[in-house]
Amino acid sequence: MQVKVVTRILAANDRMAEENRERFEAAGVYAVNIMGTPGAGKTSLLERTITALKDRLRIGVIEGDLMGSDDAERIGALGVPVVQINTGGACHLDANMISVVLHDLPPLADLDLLIIENIGNLVCPAEFNLGEHRKIVVLSVAEGHDKPSKYPIMFQESSAMVVNKIDLLPYVDTDISRIRRDALAINPGLEIFELSCRTGSGIEEWTRWLAASRS
Ligand code: MG
Ligand code: ZN
Repeated sequence: MQVKVVTRILAANDRMAEENRERFEAAGVYAVNIMGTPGAGKTSLLERTITALKDRLRIGVIEGDLMGSDDAERIGALGVPVVQINTGGACHLDANMISVVLHDLPPLADLDLLIIENIGNLVCPAEFNLGEHRKIVVLSVAEGHDKPSKYPIMFQESSAMVVNKIDLLPYVDTDISRIRRDALAINPGLEIFELSCRTGSGIEEWTRWLAASRS
């Protein structure tokens, strides 16, 4: 019975995601869903990405967190429109939450890129489509190299993987080649970016790909 209930929830979510997707398409806005572990640097990646692209693209942001608005305040400080979703405890965003907060952003037709930062969690965010064009998974070398093999669905569903904090590689035992190898074994088409939001190394390649992946 449990399985049937979960299947129905996901089917209802997929229908709402499809509606969101139609709205994005109609407005010509490119939507990306940024997922990853807590502390991997998702918000730092958003800050770097927005700083690099905001003169070329009109960007809007949806920040997902269990509670608080710290991340939305960081993004708002960059001068782009941002709306915070607090799930209160739910460990993922769903398509209905996105649909509701779209009213709190500028009209979609006035945006080129919508970045959605999901709840820090490598499990269910991968199963709840939001209507996004691409999912992107973020992890850091501080978390070891076992994430792709332990959480394969996340890597299977993503178009790109960002491995952050490469400036820490000399201080950790993480084998970054194993992250790459395991992730590609799950999803051979995965684009991989190894970068540091702290130093800025690798950011340019990532933002160039993101901007180009719109079309
Ligand atoms: Mg964050
Ligand atoms: Zn969840």
